[in-house]
Amino acid sequence: MSSVIHRDCDVLIIGGGAAGCVAAVEAKELAPELDVVVMEKAHVYRSGCLAAGISALNAYLHQGETPESFLRYVIRDSVGIVRDDLTLTMAAELNAQVKRVESWGLPIPKDERDRPLKRGRGSIKIFGERIKPILGKRAEASGATILNRVNATALAVHDGRVIGAYGVGTRDAKLHAVRAKTVLVCTGGAAGLYRPSNPGMASHRMWYSPFNTGAGLAMGIRAGAEMTSFEFRFIPLRIKDAIAPTGEIAQWLGAQQINALGEEYLDKHYAHLGGRSMTTQDRLYATLLERRAGRGPCYLDVRNVNPKRLEGTIAAYLSMAPPSAMLMSDEAYYAKHGGVMAPVEITGGEPLVVGGHGLSGYWIDAARRASVPGLWAAGDVAGGSPKKYASGAWAEAVIAVRAMVEEARQREHAPLDAGELAREHARALKPLEKPGSISPQDLEERLQKVLDEYAGGISRDYGYSEHELKIAKLHLGRMADELASLAAITPFELMQCHDVIDRVTVAKTLVEHMLHRRETRWHCYQERLDYPQRDDARFMLFVNSVQGPDGAIRIVERPVERAQLDVELPPLADGAVIRHSR
Ligand SMILES: Cc1cc2nc3c(=O)[nH]c(=O)nc-3n(C[C@H](O)[C@H](O)[C@H](O)COP(=O)(O)OP(=O)(O)OC[C@H]3O[C@@H](n4cnc5c(N)ncnc54)[C@H](O)[C@@H]3O)c2cc1C
Repeated sequence: MSSVIHRDCDVLIIGGGAAGCVAAVEAKELAPELDVVVMEKAHVYRSGCLAAGISALNAYLHQGETPESFLRYVIRDSVGIVRDDLTLTMAAELNAQVKRVESWGLPIPKDERDRPLKRGRGSIKIFGERIKPILGKRAEASGATILNRVNATALAVHDGRVIGAYGVGTRDAKLHAVRAKTVLVCTGGAAGLYRPSNPGMASHRMWYSPFNTGAGLAMGIRAGAEMTSFEFRFIPLRIKDAIAPTGEIAQWLGAQQINALGEEYLDKHYAHLGGRSMTTQDRLYATLLERRAGRGPCYLDVRNVNPKRLEGTIAAYLSMAPPSAMLMSDEAYYAKHGGVMAPVEITGGEPLVVGGHGLSGYWIDAARRASVPGLWAAGDVAGGSPKKYASGAWAEAVIAVRAMVEEARQREHAPLDAGELAREHARALKPLEKPGSISPQDLEERLQKVLDEYAGGISRDYGYSEHELKIAKLHLGRMADELASLAAITPFELMQCHDVIDRVTVAKTLVEHMLHRRETRWHCYQERLDYPQRDDARFMLFVNSVQGPDGAIRIVERPVERAQLDVELPPLADGAVIRHSR
């Protein structure tokens, strides 16, 4: 066995993104005497979803809003399936964490009464191009040890408790074994499972970070942690080709969604809501229906927007998606000289497993503890509480760290299992031993084709049936042999091998969840063509899963425990209005 780099710490944070950086600072501020280590696959200055910058914080309580009002909105948008305890505790932390990151140097524009500028219901504007360096530098300055460019591959487990993690250097392929008294996983969601919007060399021009491959989910699945709601896939409605966020145009400019005939179509599809807001997935579903009816493509109509605001929007795109800024400033120039701005074409991206926008991820308790002792989860990797976004990831990180620090103070290190270390050494470095076999790109494409065609990808308008899912399952089962033949020459290719190994692990769990929920609750996100109706009597519950040591995935149903709230859900197909309360 080649040399292994050993390290001990009190608090190990896997993933130095939005949640991970804030977690590191919180841990060192609460307990300066504890050793805190961050294991990050890229570099904390530019990693994860925030790497390119963002222009808004999408979870914030504006004046008049409360954690309860936020929860009501989330319950309705998620058609009832929400962990109230997680959403309430997260929402209660939001504004304090926004203020904290502002104090680290994040510019937040204010109105005349010194309130953050409102972009949408739970959203504020920020100047966030440098948000990631701000977070990364603060994490570094906190005194935490940052292991940049170490790709976590597995959790270390002793007597059923997580006691650390293994990782491989992405530049030197050295194995790291880090022992810890408490471990937080915050590696984000899983992108790249499905065939993406753009082909070939542009395939990583996707909305979600292509380097968030579901590693944290896969590590947890392999360690027997309970997962929730993978079948709630998040599908972003984005600017076509650039796959850039649309919130800036829809919310800040107030641009309407129109079809190829120039007709506004959301009101037409959702008139039955009588002015009550439609869900996030409805906007995507209506766009799909328009195209199916021969009225596509669809657009955001920027022809008559406020020119002053338009300038702001272009600047905002410079902070997160510069190609869109260039496109729009060309158009704005044309409009200024007598032309008419072309509407911005929109389309759905490929499905993602992501707990920050959607519901999927680790099943955790209110302290963000996973079901396996010693392990916590926060941010996009954690399930049950959608619409967290960046500020919600910070909130979850500090909630987790408070409990972790208490526990770390009271525990001794458990011994690392020599057998487990040897097995992980062999498994993690195996692709380097067999150059010339299957490349990670080949297998990634195969996985993406299988999920696209048999598990409701873009080419299938997101719909799927029992028969198709079973074919997907068969293919995923067969991939085990191919995974064993993955080959890498460089350390970077080794990382890519683990990316695809982890994606296949996540995909297997995903398909089991999709098979289990025999209804259609969230159009496009979860579109059972063979069960097109919502079935509240049978499926107002969480679909969870646990993978056993033999790789078999067991589905567990968990009830929705509603706080003392009375919420009106979106109506059923027959127009019946359902209220949900305890
Ligand atoms: C393009 C885009 C735009 C967005 N815009 C907004 C916005 O305007 N406002 C808003 O509030 N939210 C926005 N979001 C959502 C927000 O960015 C995420 O919800 C938030 O970053 C989640 O935090 P996280 O820490 O869970 O994940 P991330 O911030 O993605 O961090 C995950 C970290 O884990 C690391 N990692 C992954 N795998 C491994 C591994 N195997 N080993 C070690 N490290 C690993 C990654 O490199 C990364 O640093 C946007 C997201 C995207 C993708």
